[in-house]
Amino acid sequence: MTHVPTVTLVGAGPGDAELLTIKAVKALRRATVALVDDLVDPGVLRYLRRGTRVVHVGKRGGCASTPQAFIHKLMVAEAQRGETVVRVKGGDPFVFGRGGEECDALRAAGLHVEVVSGLTAGIAGPAAIGLPVTDRRHSRGVALVTGHAGTDGGEPDWAALARCGLTLVIYMGVMRLPVIVDALRVAGMAGDTPAALVSRAHTPAQRQALCRLGTLVDTVAAQGLQSPCIVVIGDVVQAAPMWAGQGAAAPQITAAHQATG
Ligand code: SAH
Repeated sequence: MTHVPTVTLVGAGPGDAELLTIKAVKALRRATVALVDDLVDPGVLRYLRRGTRVVHVGKRGGCASTPQAFIHKLMVAEAQRGETVVRVKGGDPFVFGRGGEECDALRAAGLHVEVVSGLTAGIAGPAAIGLPVTDRRHSRGVALVTGHAGTDGGEPDWAALARCGLTLVIYMGVMRLPVIVDALRVAGMAGDTPAALVSRAHTPAQRQALCRLGTLVDTVAAQGLQSPCIVVIGDVVQAAPMWAGQGAAAPQITAAHQATG
């Protein structure tokens, strides 16, 4: 039987390398070539063997990201040359990570694919401030939503989301918050709906703020919260310990990274 090369998509989690799975660490150790996204914390790369070739394929310094088709070609070419290829992605490869597209491209080239799940920022980010996104006292479920408008201008149906009663966990949304908040308000979501922002979760640069839907945009500006950032909108934000004691007045609380361990 001929040997079919395998490419492993590794979810690196949101930051802190200690959040890697054991399976992820094993895959990193085996690799001879690593194609790495920007959002991957440099600490994660310590688990690669010395001599492993590292190719950064994410957005760098505001430049356009490496075209997806190029990443596909590179993975295929390296694997066919006999390299042990890992594709290291922030969070979970299958949550807004283009992992599905990459699997399709690899399989189309006749390669095997293994996917190692990682902690996704939309769950682990809120958890970094003690916010349990499905706390049953406040939430019946969570919608993981992109805040990014597609190249075709397509975006989530904010009006439907405003009415669905689920906690909204928004990825890639911080730059587009004015549009998103407007759309939710127009659809009837109350301006005093609790909201949370967690920027650079699980890194030493973590920042967070709690506020209300109506003050989200100002909070981002006032606190200088930057991407990558997760936005949580829904009553469940009241379950965050930072919320306690703030009363009904719109709380606007920020804090630097707190040790969670
Ligand atoms: N596959 C990733 C998501 C990639 S999309 C995952 O599962 O987490 C990129 C978006 O993820 C960012 O715009 C931001 O909204 C979120 N994100 C990734 N890492 C983050 C972090 N450390 N802190 C806050 N948000 C993060």
